[in-house]
Amino acid sequence: MELNDLLKKFREYSSEDTTKLEYAWQFSRDAHTDQKRASGEVYFSHCEAVAEILVDFKMDLETIAAGLLHDVLEDTTVPRDTFSKEFGEEIYTLVMGVTKIETLKFSSRDEAQAENWRKMILATAKDIRVIVIKLADRLHNMRTLNFLTREKQLEISHETLSLYAPLAQRLGIFHLKSELEDLSFKYLHPDEYRSLLAKVQVRFAMREKLLEEFKSGVEKHLGPTQIPHRVVSRAKNLYSIYRKMEKQGLPFEDIQDALGIRIITDTVINCYALLGTVHSIFKPVIGSFTDYIAVPKMNLYQSLHTSVMAPSGEIIEIQIRTEEMHRTSEYGIAAHWRYKLGEQGADRHLDEKLNWLRQWMEWLQDLSSPREFIESFKTDLELDQIFIFTPKGDVKSLPVGATPIDFAYAIHSGVGDACIGARVNNKMARLNDELKSGDICEIITRRNSAPKNDWLTIVKTAGARSHIRKYLREHGKLQD
Ligand code: MN
Repeated sequence: MELNDLLKKFREYSSEDTTKLEYAWQFSRDAHTDQKRASGEVYFSHCEAVAEILVDFKMDLETIAAGLLHDVLEDTTVPRDTFSKEFGEEIYTLVMGVTKIETLKFSSRDEAQAENWRKMILATAKDIRVIVIKLADRLHNMRTLNFLTREKQLEISHETLSLYAPLAQRLGIFHLKSELEDLSFKYLHPDEYRSLLAKVQVRFAMREKLLEEFKSGVEKHLGPTQIPHRVVSRAKNLYSIYRKMEKQGLPFEDIQDALGIRIITDTVINCYALLGTVHSIFKPVIGSFTDYIAVPKMNLYQSLHTSVMAPSGEIIEIQIRTEEMHRTSEYGIAAHWRYKLGEQGADRHLDEKLNWLRQWMEWLQDLSSPREFIESFKTDLELDQIFIFTPKGDVKSLPVGATPIDFAYAIHSGVGDACIGARVNNKMARLNDELKSGDICEIITRRNSAPKNDWLTIVKTAGARSHIRKYLREHGKLQD
């Protein structure tokens, strides 16, 4: 990509002066001038590619400049003070956030990996753009992984699949999460990947007809209502099909992989109107309806989900959402960052929405050992979440395996600290029982009651763990 193409794309959504961006481009090209990538390409091509991904996300100028410069401090001899003088505090801090700590300082590779993640999470808690740059960097590295040795490919794919993809999911950047997963899958299980790809392509070709039938059925009923809408079919995520096969122990042919369709409209009211229309044309599958508009997922995701039966008997999974919800589901946090800059009207509720992320990162920072950190991090990133209700109907989402103690701390740290028991669906439960999605959980508290050391082996969330440790430490009761 040429500098001019980058600038042109940037100017499509921003009117900021681009002098600094142009300077970052030249500076990075000069700094990496003698370096080559494993592919034999000049190293700078990687920096440009990362910047291009960030422009596609419509990120702000500082983020794109930091994307161009992201490897300068780690891989070239440019001194830190020169860099911060040239580009200022903001860009310097972003680049520092994605720069690794020297590996020499650690006794093992696992420890180095955990510490580097911890450092990045710390930087991200201060500025969310750090993680967006890191994800763009990883995406380009995954796209060009074929030039590395088999051993490196496996190592990097494994890290991508266990940490980066779930993190992208957690941040709601769905689009990036799917590509990271499918690329990792390709390297980790090359044979399965190839065979699944061929089968999926055949199935999707056959489904074109079904999709057309569905569209025209919907059009016929929606035409007169004048509800604005567009119907799009869902992109396939090979890895999620593979995971389903593994989980259910079934071959591809036996996997219920329904045709996925999205209907996108303008307002929330029209989402429900469309739902009504769809259910009046096609028979809904009982129990398939979920309202993620009224109860959004933790990663800000919103949509109505339902499944209906096509006249041919095939199940069609439908997601109904507004354009804004659609943007959030593709770009997640990255989409919201943009609004904060006031370029398309500020999102008043942004801070509230992002609060969980900051909180989570603060809790993570509090965990003492690298091992404990990486374990909590992984658990909290679990893709599957369960929804637990208070007796009053408030809902909290928690990772699979969460206990009443996790739920108590999710309500409030005071409730967690004073928790002595729980009633789940009106029956007494033990504090280490696993909660199930849909459970109604009432926490029983007693004043002057206190957290116990063995709770640390029971809880699943970083939030609960952090509060328990804090209490025990402050009362001199923490045993390590
Ligand atoms: Mn890089």
